[in-house]
Amino acid sequence: MKTLTCSDAGFDCAAVIKGDTEDEIMSKAGEHAMKEHNIKAEDMTPELTQKIRGLIRSS
Ligand SMILES: [Zn+2]
Repeated sequence: MKTLTCSDAGFDCAAVIKGDTEDEIMSKAGEHAMKEHNIKAEDMTPELTQKIRGLIRSS
């Protein structure tokens, strides 16, 4: 199981995104960010994607 804590990405948000793979987390995180934080697809730069990938924790 892998998890991504939204607040680690700098948002004031208690959401924890869970998934079996990094790709699953990234896809869920993208949806969450667009819905809850008004992030647009074009805001998801390679740098931001890279940064968020680095915040994923394995447990
Ligand atoms: Zn969030």
